[in-house]
Amino acid sequence: MVLVAASASRDAQAQADALAGRVVEDPSRPPRVTGATAEGGTAADRRVLFLAFDGVDVQWCGETEDDPHDNCSSLFQGAVLPYKGGAAERAAVVQTVVADLADFDVIVTTERPPQDVDYDMEAIGQWSPPAGGFLGIAPKIDCFDVDGGDLSFTLDPEDMLPSDTAKVVLQELAHTWGLEHVDSTGDLLFPTVGNAPDPHFEDQCSPIVYTPNLCPRQHAEFCPEGEQNSYQEMLMLFGPRQPDEVAPVVSIVSPSDGAHVPNSFSLVLELHDDIAPQVFATNITFVDGFESAVDLAGPGVFPVALNDVPDGVWTIDVATRDVAGNEGSASITITVGAGEPAAADESGSGTTNTPATTTGDADGSGDADSSDGGGALDDDGGCACGVGLSPAGWHWLMLLAPLRRRASRRSRRS
Ligand SMILES: [Zn+2]
Repeated sequence: MVLVAASASRDAQAQADALAGRVVEDPSRPPRVTGATAEGGTAADRRVLFLAFDGVDVQWCGETEDDPHDNCSSLFQGAVLPYKGGAAERAAVVQTVVADLADFDVIVTTERPPQDVDYDMEAIGQWSPPAGGFLGIAPKIDCFDVDGGDLSFTLDPEDMLPSDTAKVVLQELAHTWGLEHVDSTGDLLFPTVGNAPDPHFEDQCSPIVYTPNLCPRQHAEFCPEGEQNSYQEMLMLFGPRQPDEVAPVVSIVSPSDGAHVPNSFSLVLELHDDIAPQVFATNITFVDGFESAVDLAGPGVFPVALNDVPDGVWTIDVATRDVAGNEGSASITITVGAGEPAAADESGSGTTNTPATTTGDADGSGDADSSDGGGALDDDGGCACGVGLSPAGWHWLMLLAPLRRRASRRSRRS
């Protein structure tokens, strides 16, 4: 058990930290190394860090069970309440976390990753029943991260700045990667927060606070006995950040190209990328009619309900862009309502729910079928309307948010 002591206020004297609990130090198990450092490593091997802001029901699943997939913790059973801050504070936390991890080949997401991804999860929010005396807690010091993904916790007392919350998040995650507390206020592994303006993973050997050290083999890679280089250990585990040069793949699952559809129908998009999860800036264009932009958290399948589209032959262009700016696109031409059949229509009508054969298997990546709201005209689904090129057309498009709904349902799962 690893605690970061809470100060009465940010300026108050920092309290001593407590360190007691499970250590995973097993020389017989190989280090968990990902990213470019790993032999034959690819982008798909990047480590994923899931920051959970929306509240989590946590289960005690056993003394050694810390599995984010099932919200299992060896520390706590109860509710982590939603993060107290608003959207701006939440974004500030994420921004600081991302900035401190900029040199390492990791992915930070606020959407729960697919079931088949091994990810670390930080639940951010107050506990119910409440806990006091610490800002963050990790279930263990996991030397070389041999256990893989863990669930750790960051609390958010009233007077906590988002930047400090981010530092606690990083320290708890780092404990689950085998990093210990060091006696350097500029290092993210200093036992308390608020001692230096912007602590980071320092590229220097700093004395470890406690003896004996818990992960001596990991620290000995870079420093003399009793010291730790937080930066180099992170680099060893994750590898240096790699440029993203792979374009995302977007496909139109439904309708199929050339289909004849009624005036209201569901446009189903599927998004994949070698780096996922991440947010994809996506444009949906009815050529010469309507255009809309929306951010989609992929990978996944996204049903977009289209309402009262005017009769006619329409070309729909979909373009998406990943965070690095790589672009992917897809296009179909369909006939809507009583319009003249499109030239490419060989499949006749009634094919609106037939998936296109060009889409690959979604391999379980959070891609539930379109029964999750697909095809429904949902006024509460969140309108993603942009500025319509056609004055009457702005209401055609209602974007449903299936991934978000799934995520919140999952977090309530007991
Ligand atoms: Zn700590």
